[in-house]
Amino acid sequence: MYKWEKNLRVVEPYVPGFQPQQRNVIKLNTNENPYPPSPKVIQALQALDLDNAMRKYPDPNSGELVRALEHYHSLDEGQVFVGAGSDDVLAVAFLAFFNSELPVLFPDVTYSFYPVWTKMFGIPYREMPLDDGFRILTEDYRQENGGIVIANPNAPTGIAMARNEIEEILAANSASIVIVDEAYIDYGGESTLPLLLDYDNLVIVRTFSKSRAMAGARIGYAMANPRLIRAMNDVAQSINSYTKPTTSLVAAVASLADEKYFRDRIGDVLRTRARTIVELKKRSFSILPSSTNFVFASPGRVDAAHLFEELCAKNIFVRHFKSERIRDYLRITIGTDSEMDALFAAIDEII
Ligand code: PMP
Repeated sequence: MYKWEKNLRVVEPYVPGFQPQQRNVIKLNTNENPYPPSPKVIQALQALDLDNAMRKYPDPNSGELVRALEHYHSLDEGQVFVGAGSDDVLAVAFLAFFNSELPVLFPDVTYSFYPVWTKMFGIPYREMPLDDGFRILTEDYRQENGGIVIANPNAPTGIAMARNEIEEILAANSASIVIVDEAYIDYGGESTLPLLLDYDNLVIVRTFSKSRAMAGARIGYAMANPRLIRAMNDVAQSINSYTKPTTSLVAAVASLADEKYFRDRIGDVLRTRARTIVELKKRSFSILPSSTNFVFASPGRVDAAHLFEELCAKNIFVRHFKSERIRDYLRITIGTDSEMDALFAAIDEII
């Protein structure tokens, strides 16, 4: 044993979806947008003074993007925190808000990064089982706790909660912070945003990675009352001041300025999602109701792990989770129509 070994931090890290580096693959495994970001994003990047953007440190406060988001969502000054993707925002929020001896609550089937952060930061936690239909039971969140985090719509199930259900949780937990992770909200869920005025314990987290087609830019944000946002900024600035590069900040501001493109591409994904559900059902899949840009589907005629492997062999990547409750399912991102057609054809060859 090395002398330093007792001081090593041993963690079980989050396992991100596979990122194949070759180009000729169909990538339906990490819920990226199949369409490019708005042409305005590309124009803004092309117009950027690259000398400045590379040579100088970026704005540590992301001031321009914070103001653009406050304006976009009709919020007051000080209600937005910007991070390097919503993973960064969520990690900062866990550090800022979950400092109790009581357990933080989240569903047993949800974004698998939540238990990784709680373990990493030494936060006690309790996983609340979803019901048999993979739904979150609001009554489970009426016990003493050190905070709550809910993905709405949930991942990987794709199922959304109604705003009034989230409100029930907020109202029953005025002593703790409730984080609502709205990574997929633009694909059909009911945002909790209108409740920000009434609930000072609410933190909403969003990302530019999915509906805004900017996963590579790593921009996410939180919306909450200014006291909570200040606490997040204090934590973030105690780790790393310069997490968002100027290129990404400029791209994000440009994306917000093209609402029509944004809405049109969401419409495209929703149309393809509806078609995907029909096609998969024809092939005996059972599918949970999706309010996201992915479907969580169980292939009736063949083992999910087997289908996952066979699709990989054909360079079609979807996501399979090995944990007990969901190992019969595949999470399939909605791609373009032609990508989905290739998926259906591959499934027909395999099953
Ligand atoms: N929350 C949920 C529910 C997600 O599925 C993801 C994507 N893996 C994230 C947050 C993080 O996304 P990003 O860091 O790209 O904003």
